[in-house]
Amino acid sequence: MKKFFPLFVLFLFLQQTFHVAQAATRTFHGETMGTTWNVSIVTDAELPDSPTVQKAIEEALRQVDYRMSTWKDFSELSRINQTEDGTEPIPLSPELDFVLKTALDVSAKTDGAYDITVGPLVNLWKFGPEENVPEIPSDAAIAKARENVGWQNLQRVDGPALKRTQPGLYLDLSSIAKGYGVDVTAKALHDLGITNYMVEVGGETRTCGKNGQGKPWVIGIEAPIPGVQQLFGTVEPQDGALATSGDYRNFRMEGDKRRSHIIDPRTGRPTEHSLVSVSVRASDCMTADAWATALLVLGPVEGVQTAKREKISALFLTREGETLVPTAVDFTWRRIPTEKGAEGSSRVASRLTEIFIGVVLFLFFFFAIGMSQLLGRRKMRCSCGAARAMEQERAQIIRRIKNLDEER
Ligand code: ADP
Ligand code: MG
Repeated sequence: MKKFFPLFVLFLFLQQTFHVAQAATRTFHGETMGTTWNVSIVTDAELPDSPTVQKAIEEALRQVDYRMSTWKDFSELSRINQTEDGTEPIPLSPELDFVLKTALDVSAKTDGAYDITVGPLVNLWKFGPEENVPEIPSDAAIAKARENVGWQNLQRVDGPALKRTQPGLYLDLSSIAKGYGVDVTAKALHDLGITNYMVEVGGETRTCGKNGQGKPWVIGIEAPIPGVQQLFGTVEPQDGALATSGDYRNFRMEGDKRRSHIIDPRTGRPTEHSLVSVSVRASDCMTADAWATALLVLGPVEGVQTAKREKISALFLTREGETLVPTAVDFTWRRIPTEKGAEGSSRVASRLTEIFIGVVLFLFFFFAIGMSQLLGRRKMRCSCGAARAMEQERAQIIRRIKNLDEER
């Protein structure tokens, strides 16, 4: 038993250090719609095996991608965009019709600031799938593209089907498809009996139930600083969704000017204002995603006014000089002050250092005991030999003195 004691102590030490005993959470991840997805589920009940869950998520997201991508020329949306203008309505899948309904609703409530027919302008500014586009579009090209933009020219009719009342329309659902993908994934998890989960697709998230510690899921809001990964705040969406739109991830530099991928259809140009990110909390992620883009287009003043009027729960972050200023509209969140954030990360770093030092000391301790025993034994043998040799030498000297005495 004694022999195993050090091992037992080591096990306890590692268990305490790395919290081995925490509730099990299974994670899944992959790629879709040109971005990544992550799902966490808490395995607190009899749940399907991991390959089944992974397959269900992949299938759900593939369906969305194959219906709503403008980057795949065979998708349902691309085929609609390729359909010659005519008088006949184009049949739609119920899924596409459902997303279209929300998109048109947000367009109506934002007076066209949010507009999924913005596609020609997105392509013109080199943020779409179209290649061979000049670096900076001319004013004439912008004016021409704007002629083909207008959500009022789209009509959902029975079928479901889509009627276009103007030629040259090109639909772009990039601002809403990821959020919809999150919702479809959440449904796929529910269908498998999973009710404690967190789904994230390209930064848009939805949570349900509790996390591995039996607490509400906490989602971080990034500080909208290009090239920096730092949290600005946290939100607990409970059984709901959180989507963020910002100009700090997808942009292009033109000299020292940043070109955002968010286009204001009213000007035909990338947005240029102090509002750098908008996070929206809603019961479903499709709605949150569309509104986050819409409020970002509207900007710091109109965006806040519209969120108040339409009762949208949103957090606006504006840049004033070097400072990020938050404006919350019916939005519950927790701020991470920069210093505290730094403290937080240094706390993690010092905790890791503690763990490392702990492990090293622990191993050194056992090594030292082993070595001291080994060396100790050798040293004792040495000193015994030396004592014996000294004794023999002393005896010889005494004998030699005795002999000398006798000779005298
Ligand atoms: P992200 O895709 O980075 O999460 P969004 O959800 O805000 O960001 O979607 C941005 C995309 O929406 C753009 O890349 C473009 O395809 C499209 N878009 C740009 N401007 C608008 C607009 N005014 N209305 C609707 N969609 C837009
Ligand atoms: Mg969006």
